[in-house]
Amino acid sequence: MSKTILVTGASGFLGSHLCKNLLEQGHTVTGLDNFFTSARENLHLCEQHDSFSFIEGDIIDPQTVAGLGSYDEIYNLACPASPPHYQKDPVYTMKTSVFGALNLLELAKNTGARIFQASTSEVYGDPEVHPQNEDYVGHVNTLGPRACYDEGKRAAETLFMDYHREYGVDIRIVRIFNTYGPHMDPEDGRVVSNFICQALRGDPITIYGDGSQTRSFCYVDDLINGFITLMNNNKNIIGPVNMGKPGEFTMKELAELVMEITQSSSQVTYHDLPKDDPKKRRPDITKAQSELGWSPQIALKEGLEKTIPWFAQKIGVQNAV
Ligand code: NAD
Ligand code: UDP
Repeated sequence: MSKTILVTGASGFLGSHLCKNLLEQGHTVTGLDNFFTSARENLHLCEQHDSFSFIEGDIIDPQTVAGLGSYDEIYNLACPASPPHYQKDPVYTMKTSVFGALNLLELAKNTGARIFQASTSEVYGDPEVHPQNEDYVGHVNTLGPRACYDEGKRAAETLFMDYHREYGVDIRIVRIFNTYGPHMDPEDGRVVSNFICQALRGDPITIYGDGSQTRSFCYVDDLINGFITLMNNNKNIIGPVNMGKPGEFTMKELAELVMEITQSSSQVTYHDLPKDDPKKRRPDITKAQSELGWSPQIALKEGLEKTIPWFAQKIGVQNAV
C-alpha cells in the first residue's frame, strides 16, 4: 500500500538513501532539511520522482513543523551526526534533538502518524558493557564535549517514550551504530570518510590515539532496509532496537583495509585522542534478528569497495577500486 511519508534530515547521508528507497517502493515522500550539514545534490535522484517534494525548514521551529500537514509516517533523521559537526554549535545540536523531537511528536500526536526516531549508539556513551544490548543504560559524561549529542538523543528517546505512554503515539526508536556509504559529506570528519579521502589523495591517514579503539561499521543499504522493516512491522515493536553490523575493527585495522583497497601510499600519522572518545563499541543485534528477522549482509570490505568510487568521483581523484 502506498503511504505518505515525511523524512526530516532528507538531504543528509542517511536521509537521502531513505527517501530514494521509499520512493522506489511507490510511496509519496516529502523531504525536509535546512542544509545545516548537507547539500541538496544528495537529493538529485529523488527529485526525478513525481512523488517527491521538498521543504526547506528547521525542525526546531514549532510553527514550521505544525504547518507540515498530515502523513502516514514520519522519520526523524534531522540532526548533525559527526562529532566535528555536532560540536560546532552544541546548543543548536541539543535544540535540534530535543525541540525537534518535541515538535515532531506533537505533529504525530495531532495527525495519528507513526513516528521513527534516529537514535544512536552514543546513548551508551563510553560503554562499560560489551557488546551493548538495549537493556544497557549507558555511561555518558553529561559535561563533556560529546554530551550535546549524547544527552540530546537520550532526552529525545525519553520524549518518544513519554508521548507513547501518555498519548498513545505510535513510535519506533532505532539506535544506529556507525554507518557508512555514498553521500557522506567528505568533510564531516567521520573516520570512514576521512580515511577514504586521505588515502585517495595520498594525504597522511590521521589516526586519533593509538588506533586500538574499536567500532563496528554497517553499510548504508543494510541499515535503511532495517529502518523500513521496523516501520512496516505491525507487531508493536516500538524499540529501542540496535541496528549496526556486529564485526568489530580497530581504527588501525580500518586504516590498513582502506589503504589496501585504494592501493594508497599514504603514511599513517597519530594524533591526540578526542576527549570522551568511546574505547570500544559493538552492537548486540539479537533483538533486531529475533523480532524483525533483520541482520546486515554486507561485509566491511565489500561495503568499502562500493563506497570508495563514489568518494573518488566526489573529490575528483582517480582510484584503484
Ligand atoms: P547527516 O549530517 O548527513 O544528516 C543530517 C541531516 O539533518 C543534514 O541534512 C542536516 O542538514 C539536517 N539537519 C540538521 N539539523 C537540522 C534541523 N534543525 N532542521 C532540519 N534539518 C536539520 O547525518 P546522517 O549520518 O545522515 O545522520 C542522520 C541521523 O542518523 C541523525 O539523526 C544521526 O544522529 C543519526 N545517526 C547516524 C549515524 C551514522 O553512522 N550515520 C549513527 C548514529 C545515529
Ligand atoms: N577517528 C580517527 N581518525 C579520524 C577520525 C576519527 O582515528 O580522522 C576515530 C575517532 O577518534 C573514533 C573513531 O575513529 O575513535 C570513530 O570516529 P567517528 O567520528 O567516525 O565516529 P564516533 O566516534 O562518533 O563513533
